[in-house]
Amino acid sequence: MRGIININPEIRDAILESGGDDAIKCYSCGRCMAACPWNLIDDLDYTTYRFCQRIKLGAIVDSEAKEDIAADTDEVFRCIGCDSCRHECPRGVNLSDVLRAVRRILVDYDSYPAELKGVISRLYSSGNPLGESSAKRADWAKDLGIPHFDGTQEFVYFPCCLPAYDARLKLVAEATASLLTKAGISFGIIGEEEFCCGEAVRRVGAEKVFQSAVNNNTRVFQKFNVKNVITTSPHCFKTFQTDYPAFSDIQIMHVVQVLHQCLADGKLKPERPFKKKVVYHDPCTLGRQMGIYDQPRELLQSIPELNLVEVPVFNREFSVCCGAGAMGLWRDWPQDQRLVKIRTEQIFATGADVLCVACPYCLQMFEENFKSMNVDIEVMDISEILFSSLGQ
Ligand code: SF4
Ligand code: SF4
Repeated sequence: MRGIININPEIRDAILESGGDDAIKCYSCGRCMAACPWNLIDDLDYTTYRFCQRIKLGAIVDSEAKEDIAADTDEVFRCIGCDSCRHECPRGVNLSDVLRAVRRILVDYDSYPAELKGVISRLYSSGNPLGESSAKRADWAKDLGIPHFDGTQEFVYFPCCLPAYDARLKLVAEATASLLTKAGISFGIIGEEEFCCGEAVRRVGAEKVFQSAVNNNTRVFQKFNVKNVITTSPHCFKTFQTDYPAFSDIQIMHVVQVLHQCLADGKLKPERPFKKKVVYHDPCTLGRQMGIYDQPRELLQSIPELNLVEVPVFNREFSVCCGAGAMGLWRDWPQDQRLVKIRTEQIFATGADVLCVACPYCLQMFEENFKSMNVDIEVMDISEILFSSLGQ
């Protein structure tokens, strides 16, 4: 971490007011740095704890020199919000929230990575990070006979932007909807009026854009009197639960919870063998942040002849982020500085035929990286694996 420079109490106070007040608790023990996956990359020293020190001194993003600001900005936006540090911190410091507060200041000054500007502006103008037309948001469901939610169904299925639009990820939404139908779950979709949950823009500090997402989804969910939601993405799952004040009386469930319940109730019966060695990757948001570790594993273990293996050591709460969080999916780090490369090496060493994920970001990140590294491992969402194991 380079820079910095002058003491500016105004900036310090603005950061503390924007949610960076956890910085005060830090006593610089450095455990967060040891836990941060960026430090698994050779030649990279991501001195995470120094952010807190510098905030306390008011000595952050406070330079006249453009190069210093650019270098600092890169470091501030490197964090992907994986919460490995928080898990290890003896003082409970939420470092990714501290950095989010710093980012809010930088975004207000328009000093943030160019790759992110286009994504944020697309999300603001079209309601999704891909800039696709909202009129096409329900196209993935066209041939499945899924009704528009009108209040007579029990659940809304919220597929997330990537499964709604991306050709590969649409298959995940299709498999999920087919499983829910097969299990007799009463659900509909909102489609066109639905907006991105906004979790990623919030993490990068674009708070005003996030609030517009909250306002849109709140208005629509209230209009249809939504009471229960099933999400495919752990990011929608978490952010609806924790960052949407008006959703406090709505039950938000991740799809693995629903499928796990269906299995327990005998509504889904995996019968067809899945004769492959499968490794499950714990997504940071579903695992470390929401505490869901056992249900996906139990779902996989219910499938005949599926051989479930683990990444040694780096599993469950020690899982290493794929690098897609906090808009990392849209960052263009040099090949040798990508977290997904580290995680791919760990997964490859298990000898698995299939990598099972439960997050659309992870799926896209791993699939693209496996292709570029020539890794012959299939990437499947847990819904796809489960669906393939059902008898007719
Ligand atoms: S682990 Fe917590 S207390 Fe220790 S340096 Fe990191 S943020 Fe500060
Ligand atoms: S949230 Fe993850 S990436 Fe960010 S500082 Fe903590 S360990 Fe590092």
